[in-house]
Amino acid sequence: MEQRIDRIKKQLHSQSYKLTPQREATVRVLLEHEDDHLSAEDVYMLVKEKYPEIGLATVYRTLELLTELKVVDKINFGDGVSRYDLRQEGAAHFHHHLVCLECGSVDEIQEDLLDDVEKEVETRWNFEIKDHRLTFHGICHRCK
Ligand SMILES: [Zn+2]
Ligand SMILES: [Zn+2]
Repeated sequence: MEQRIDRIKKQLHSQSYKLTPQREATVRVLLEHEDDHLSAEDVYMLVKEKYPEIGLATVYRTLELLTELKVVDKINFGDGVSRYDLRQEGAAHFHHHLVCLECGSVDEIQEDLLDDVEKEVETRWNFEIKDHRLTFHGICHRCK
């Protein structure tokens, strides 16, 4: 945890940003809830437990900054709510998601699985792929 915060701190510094206590509190909440897909409001409520004086706007700006620096990815599962997801360190691509239509749970697939698809897209459409978002909608193993 501390090492990852340190690396995120360096990432901010390299872009001339400081990891202020409030930003650090936001990063800690994201790390502590790495498997969740928190909305800005979720993050705000959790940061507020430790920093009661923090405002939603501050949390929101921090999340936008972290998105810009590619520390987190902003995702939307079709319910109109933006969620923030920590990027796996060193991952070339964003992970895939399995969204259950029954219980709303979101599971992650960390393997890329798309090598062949990417090659075909790059060749047929002469398109250089940088990343992708892949969300499967269906019924999870718990609900089946
Ligand atoms: Zn995720
Ligand atoms: Zn389910």
